[in-house]
Amino acid sequence: QASSRRHLIVGNWKMNGLSAGSLELAKAVAEGARDVGPAARLVICPPFTQLAAVAKALEGSKVQLGAQDCHQSPSGAHTGDISADMLVDLDVGFVILGHSERRQHHHETDGLVQAKVKAAEKAGLTPIVCVGETAQQRDEGHTLETLGEQISKSLPKDFSGVVAYEPIWAIGSGRSASVKEIDETISHLHDVIGRHLDVDDKSVSILYGGSVTARDAASILSIPAVGGVLVGGASLSAESFLGIARAA
Ligand code: PGA
Repeated sequence: QASSRRHLIVGNWKMNGLSAGSLELAKAVAEGARDVGPAARLVICPPFTQLAAVAKALEGSKVQLGAQDCHQSPSGAHTGDISADMLVDLDVGFVILGHSERRQHHHETDGLVQAKVKAAEKAGLTPIVCVGETAQQRDEGHTLETLGEQISKSLPKDFSGVVAYEPIWAIGSGRSASVKEIDETISHLHDVIGRHLDVDDKSVSILYGGSVTARDAASILSIPAVGGVLVGGASLSAESFLGIARAA
């Protein structure tokens, strides 16, 4: 057992999953979650198109539902977008915001991420806000400065959600950050939150994400500053995802 704290174990399916496979995966996670102890709180984040079906599959289970993005406006002329209220309507409780793949490929700025965080919180969702440095920023010694700027500009002063520290070089690379890197960086992020926001830094849970597997989950979750993990690739297998949850 890593500790007596409750860890948030979040699966980010990204752009993966058609109807049959998503339903099968969600049911397997819901079923397997019965044997996962109370130290882990499980959330899965399928693509928008599978949310309604997965919500049904999770009914009565202890696995909660999350989405991967939302729009900053409550409704209106935004072709192709999804509002926070639309997610709440489908029993979604969490929303990943500012993932590096959206910051990079959809040009999402810290300011836009903050607008989305406010919209999500207003609708009653718990935002999971991602921050992370590139390999170059880390190599050049700019990690803490980069993350500090992302935190102070992406989070509103009264932020009540969750943060995910995801070094960009660790995402999908098969190379997770080391326990020392995770510990140092997340402890620093708690300091930044304490300095820049009007909230108690201990009230904000900070997850680690980037090539987390069932093999290294226990050592990552044993770091006192870590509030849980955000899992991409390994969340597409119920066995791997539940293995990570059991390490909590
Ligand atoms: P990964 O993705 O676990 O496949 O590295 C994590 C993420 O991008 O959230």
